[in-house]
Amino acid sequence: MRYIELSSGQAMPVLGQGTWGFGEGRSRRSGAIASLRYGLDVGLGLIDTAEMYGDGAAEEIVGEAIAGRRDEVFLVSKVYPHNASRPGVAAACERSLKRLQTDRLDLYLLHWRGSIPLAETVAGFEALMGQGKILSFGVSNFDTPDMEELWDTPGGSAATANQILYNPSRRGCEFDLLPWCRNHQVAVMAYSPIEQGRLLRDQVLQRLAAARGCTVAQLLIAWVLRREGVATIPKAERIEHVRENAAALNIVLTAEELAAIDHKFPPPRHKVPLEML
Ligand code: NAP
Repeated sequence: MRYIELSSGQAMPVLGQGTWGFGEGRSRRSGAIASLRYGLDVGLGLIDTAEMYGDGAAEEIVGEAIAGRRDEVFLVSKVYPHNASRPGVAAACERSLKRLQTDRLDLYLLHWRGSIPLAETVAGFEALMGQGKILSFGVSNFDTPDMEELWDTPGGSAATANQILYNPSRRGCEFDLLPWCRNHQVAVMAYSPIEQGRLLRDQVLQRLAAARGCTVAQLLIAWVLRREGVATIPKAERIEHVRENAAALNIVLTAEELAAIDHKFPPPRHKVPLEML
C-alpha cells in the first residue's frame, strides 16, 4: 500500500473502500461485511463511511466488519451539515463511534457545506480532537472558495483532507482545487472514481483497458491515483470487484494512455464549479 502523509502526521492509505449504499435497498448486510473484511485482507485499510449512509446502517456494518481489527483501519466518517454545530458535532460523533464500535475516528469530515458557521463546526472538531475521539478533521464537497473561507476560520487550516467527486468525467477540480489542496497540504479523497458504474460503458476506456489487459474499473482507479496527494475509495459490494480494485494499485498508466483519456475527457481550461453526487 502507498500512503499519503497528512498535515497531522497521520499516514492515510491511498486506496480504500467506500460504503454508500451499504445497509440500504437490496444491499446484503452479510455480503457487505464480507467484502469489507476481504478488502482489509488485501490491504485496503482505508474505510469511508458517514452517518447519512443507510441512516446509520452503513456505520453499523463497518463496525461489525472491523471488530477485532480496528488497528488495521484508517477509519473515516462524516457528519451531516445540519448536525455540524459545536454540540451537534459532539453528539453525532458519539453516535457514530457507538455504531462503529470504536473509541476513535482517524478522520472526521463535514459532509458538505450547510448553514452552520464553519467556526462552530471547527470548534466542535477541535473539542473532539482534544478528547482523542477523532485524530484529525476535514471537509467534503468543498470548492476552492470554501477552502479559502475555511483557511480564514480560526483553527480551520488544521483540516487534513477534502473528499470530492473526481474521475475523468468530473475533472473540473484539476483547474484550481487540486493545486490549491496540494499547496496547502490537504489530501484529496476522490469519491465515485467509477462514476457509480457509469464510466464502465465508455468505449475509449474499454479499448484502453482491453489493450492493457486490465478492467475499466482498474484503469479508472489508476487514473485517479496517478496524482500525488490523491486517495480514492471505490465502493464494491462484490468480492471480485474488491479484488480487482486492490490490484489496480500496481497499475501505472503510460503517457499514451493518459493522452487518450485526455482526448476523450479533456482537462479543464477554466474554472468549473465543483460538482457533487
Ligand atoms: P463508485 O465507487 O464510483 O462506484 C460504485 C459502483 O461501482 C458499485 O455499483 C460497484 O458495484 C461498482 N464497482 C466497484 N468496483 C468495480 C469493479 N472492479 N468492476 C465493476 N464495477 C465495480 O461510486 P460511489 O459509491 O458513489 O463512490 C465511492 C464512495 O465514495 C462511496 O461509497 C462513499 O463512501 C463515497 N462518496 C462520498 C460522497 C460525498 O459526498 N462525500 C459522495 C459519493 C460517494 P458492486 O457494489 O456491486 O461491487
